[in-house]
Amino acid sequence: MVLSIHKLGDPVLRYPVPEGDIDSAELKTIINDMTDTLREAKGLGLAAPQVGILKRIFVYDMGEGLRVMLNPQVVWESPEMEEDTEGCLSIPGGEVTVRRRAAVKIKAFDELGAIQEIDAEGLLARLFQHEIDHLNGVMIVDRTTEEERRRLIHEMIREDRG
Ligand code: ZN
Repeated sequence: MVLSIHKLGDPVLRYPVPEGDIDSAELKTIINDMTDTLREAKGLGLAAPQVGILKRIFVYDMGEGLRVMLNPQVVWESPEMEEDTEGCLSIPGGEVTVRRRAAVKIKAFDELGAIQEIDAEGLLARLFQHEIDHLNGVMIVDRTTEEERRRLIHEMIREDRG
């Protein structure tokens, strides 16, 4: 089932989600719904709070199939930083420049409960940091300049008016 994506301004996006166990039957539904929603939105990644689910879960697909990350943690981050443009399904209309770690290693459980560790750089490292930010109530408008933040909000309002 395709769920509606909450937009910037909705308090559900600003809640730091605590870690917790996820019931396996419930998890299956959540993952199916998040997958449908990600596909429909043609996004690369989607975090549970974006669809109003306060669980530490995100899904992503970089063109190699869907991956599910439960209770993800950054276990290593590079000292080097990298700037690039980023958009967000919760802020339709534009992109802003965001400075992030150039590389990270993250650890998470998959949908079957197996531990997965992934070394990421470039776009994937950026995606991981973006999605984990969502689980902590942080959004790209918090990580850019005041000027870019204003521009993005204006673009979102324009997009909203159609
Ligand atoms: Zn986002």
